[in-house]
Amino acid sequence: MDSGNFTFTMIKPGAVNNEYIGPILAKITDAGFRIAAMKMIKLRTAQAEVFYGIHKERPFFRSLVEFMTSGPIVVAVLEKENAVQSYRELIGSTNPEEAKSGTIRKLFAESVSKNAVHGSDSVENAANEALFFFSRSEIFTESGEVKLQFDVTV
Ligand code: UDP
Repeated sequence: MDSGNFTFTMIKPGAVNNEYIGPILAKITDAGFRIAAMKMIKLRTAQAEVFYGIHKERPFFRSLVEFMTSGPIVVAVLEKENAVQSYRELIGSTNPEEAKSGTIRKLFAESVSKNAVHGSDSVENAANEALFFFSRSEIFTESGEVKLQFDVTV
């Protein structure tokens, strides 16, 4: 799992509530991603505020934090060659109305805010976001060994 070969995703509360965990994971694995780490959690407000801190001045920040803390989510680390870009293509545009057909957001998002999934937008953010939720001992390589090294310094 070298730099660029993994990404981080969340299945957001709306999609979990609509019982889309299974269909979304099927899209992910059908697209050739390996699940290297995964768990179901409920974000606390302070965690959501830190995770989305880059958006804190945006008008949608409070509603985004409220939505992301409204119910359980699934967090996962996905492994594939060129994972960050490949996964952004698989999920589609932030606004599902602009997302290409067949993308996860086109299929499962309710709106631009309740848009089904998160996907890291850079290799550096993928490392930061994965290590926000998982310890290194919870992230597994294909052989089942724990991946202790990340190429990106976090
Ligand atoms: N978002 C929102 N309203 C907007 C734009 C974004 O609620 O007008 C939410 C949406 O859930 C999105 C998240 O904020 O996924 C982060 O926005 P970003 O622009 O980083 O989009 P992403 O990288 O998730 O496609």
